[in-house]
Amino acid sequence: MSRNSQRVLLSEEQIQRRVRELGERIGADYPGGALHLVCILKGACFFLADLARAIQRDVVVDFIGISSYGKGTTSSGEVKLTKDLDLSVEGADVLVVEDIVDSGITLHYLVQVLEQRKPRSIRIAALLDKPERRVRPVQVDYVGFQIPDRFVVGYGLDFAERYRNLRDICVLEESAAGG
Ligand code: 5GP
Repeated sequence: MSRNSQRVLLSEEQIQRRVRELGERIGADYPGGALHLVCILKGACFFLADLARAIQRDVVVDFIGISSYGKGTTSSGEVKLTKDLDLSVEGADVLVVEDIVDSGITLHYLVQVLEQRKPRSIRIAALLDKPERRVRPVQVDYVGFQIPDRFVVGYGLDFAERYRNLRDICVLEESAAGG
């Protein structure tokens, strides 16, 4: 796979500026107490690390594993919990941190799971949103960027576990996806 097959869609500077803005808004929107950040593994880890540091208030960080994609670039439609949270969210203000909302299947499922655990509130922050692809309704409260229906990698997003460490978010061209 050659690096030439990746086209920058969002630069590191654009991403960092937007994440800071989101962090400031989130910090201002919550009245008090610790904000419970629930990061969806693995793609959202990079976003979580920057967002958490941009939120000027106490935060608690926890991780949940949900898989809805295999090694391809289209959803299987299957969702499974691969790692549960370590902490209780009962009575907590929960902010789910996700890399990208595509069909909405993952977040629709996760919100249902979390609601059963009786948090005080649940909101969603997603760095990227592909609204054209939605098949399940999801209310995303904080969106970094709306993007077109293209498969993207970088800043935590992978293709078959590669490219997560790219600083920019790039469109993976067809030739690379087949390689
Ligand atoms: P959804 O359940 O909304 O269809 O999918 C959400 C998950 O699908 C994301 O957390 C991400 O893992 C994966 N996904 C959706 N679109 C893309 C994309 O363009 N690139 C990558 N790398 N993963 C994606």
